[in-house]
Amino acid sequence: MDFLIDTKWIYYPKQNKLVEDGRILIEGNKIVYSGPKNDSQAISASHDRFNYSHGIATPGFVNAHTHLPEILLRGLVDDKDLHTWLDQMWKYEPNMSASDAYWGSMLGIAEMLASGTVAFNDQYFYSNQMARAVDSSGIKAFLSPSIFYDGNPEANSMEEAFQHAQDTFKSWNGKNNRLWIGFGPHAPYTVGQEWFTRIADEARKLGTSLHTHFNETEREVQEALKKWGKRPVERMEEIGVLDTIQSAAHCIHLSDQEIELLRKHNISVLHCPKSNMKIGAGLADVPKLLKSDVNVCLGTDGQASNNKLDMIEEMAFEVLIHKGFGRDPTLIPSHEVIRMATAQASQLFPKGVYSGTLAEGTSADLTIINLDSIQTTPVINPVSHLTYAIGRENVEMTVVDGTILYLDGEFPTLDTIEIKEKAEKAIGNILDKTESEKT
Ligand SMILES: [Zn+2]
Repeated sequence: MDFLIDTKWIYYPKQNKLVEDGRILIEGNKIVYSGPKNDSQAISASHDRFNYSHGIATPGFVNAHTHLPEILLRGLVDDKDLHTWLDQMWKYEPNMSASDAYWGSMLGIAEMLASGTVAFNDQYFYSNQMARAVDSSGIKAFLSPSIFYDGNPEANSMEEAFQHAQDTFKSWNGKNNRLWIGFGPHAPYTVGQEWFTRIADEARKLGTSLHTHFNETEREVQEALKKWGKRPVERMEEIGVLDTIQSAAHCIHLSDQEIELLRKHNISVLHCPKSNMKIGAGLADVPKLLKSDVNVCLGTDGQASNNKLDMIEEMAFEVLIHKGFGRDPTLIPSHEVIRMATAQASQLFPKGVYSGTLAEGTSADLTIINLDSIQTTPVINPVSHLTYAIGRENVEMTVVDGTILYLDGEFPTLDTIEIKEKAEKAIGNILDKTESEKT
């Protein structure tokens, strides 16, 4: 469908530029015009038209770190530290079936689309099922099958987990412009060094990359120092795998040398402020990372530790938490966090897949946010509202790859009644199986 959207404002986060009375023209999966309404040309009668007289168009958000089927376990284990939380998760996760994971993925995708998210970067089990859900729903994703053993419901060994990852790569990588596969060795503290090397070798051979977790807790760092005499990122450099790592979640406890290694190897830090706060892990020094030229993207983390998939809320946490802990209100201004949730995440995907710019010729991935609400009146500075005033209920439309996937509370590609029913059933199955093991 070719269509045009007229909005009161268009926001371009890469340039921090706001255009009033804007128009975006979409043909196929591309933006063919984006700018002031008066300058647009060549609009044919066949274009469907949308008019948002109080709407602001922004690039759609990218959730840079998820474990999507984990959504089934949200609210199950709260108020625990990471290692206690993981021990709990690893009791329930092995009882998740492939079908459970599929319906969990569909539920997560619906939640993301309704909050303006157009793409996500995931690391979890059952990536085959997630790929099916991505394919049929229309969202974009870079999926890195988790390669590790603890809590793994679909593999009994590292060998088997790695085989699943390779199979997923063969079946789904680049199947369309929206679906890409990497490898997900969980973290240096859960995956042996010989495995990291082997997975990295295979990624180089296939031309893909790794998505892992670095330095989420001080305990991991202390264990690494004891075991290798090196901090985790330094050890990864020593064994020669950093060139294959595209993204690393958390990166809370980093030395200056580790920050320099992340910059040198162009590794994107996937910052998850709400999950980190909830689990009491600490806070990544994002202002320092940005000053050091490290690419930082924003993610929610899995739903068992967030417990939402809401990038609008995540942006609000991000702008506030650094000011509060840093005692400096100039840290992470509004436009900077929007850039983290959009343009900076373009690096997580192959070139041309997602730009986060709304530029002409790029893939049409955008969201329209309605500022005609009590909570956004008056609109003195629409960009300020995007982080300090709106909620996901202000999202009116989400477009991915030129297709409308969310509009006025409706999901054209998803049956949300069925998804909710199947997801409820799935968590029932997981709880029953786990309970029966206890008796
Ligand atoms: Zn994670």
